[in-house]
Amino acid sequence: MVQEEEAHAAENERTFIAIKPDRIAEIISRFERKGFKLVAIKIMVPSKEFAQKHYHDLKDRPFFNGLCGFLSSGPVIAMGFIKYGRKLIGATDPQRSEPGTIRGDLAVVVGRNIIHGSDGPETAKDEINLWFKPQELVNYRSNAEKWIYGVN
Ligand code: UDP
Ligand code: MG
Repeated sequence: MVQEEEAHAAENERTFIAIKPDRIAEIISRFERKGFKLVAIKIMVPSKEFAQKHYHDLKDRPFFNGLCGFLSSGPVIAMGFIKYGRKLIGATDPQRSEPGTIRGDLAVVVGRNIIHGSDGPETAKDEINLWFKPQELVNYRSNAEKWIYGVN
């Protein structure tokens, strides 16, 4: 792929991120510093049914009920970013997350690992569709893109 095509493909990759309050600025700032573009954001309290939809792929796991209970226990800040940001988040178990990652630096317990991020670009699409209406996604060109991705 030529450089511009690569930049374009990278531009279209998305991540859905969900966090609990208290570390909002710290976490958003890590994505912002890396040059990820925020395209949707809102605060909401998801219902248990909504949490079950969000984590549907984990419905047979023993921690499913507790996990959905936790997600729906209070406000969640939901965000859509371009581009895909799994590396910044770190491994599922914060004890195994590298220092420098969000979970490695800010979390301790697997069931309270501070942040949800989509498993891949495909699940990101589904999750963004679940959490946001199409009109809640904003399309714009940030000034930093030219310097970070090399697109004009
Ligand atoms: N989880 C847990 N116990 C486990 C594995 C996962 O409580 O043994 C929780 C954890 O909060 C994790 C979430 O379930 O973030 C979703 O699990 P997944 O395997 O999708 O991990 P992630 O993609 O969040 O790293
Ligand atoms: Mg996952």
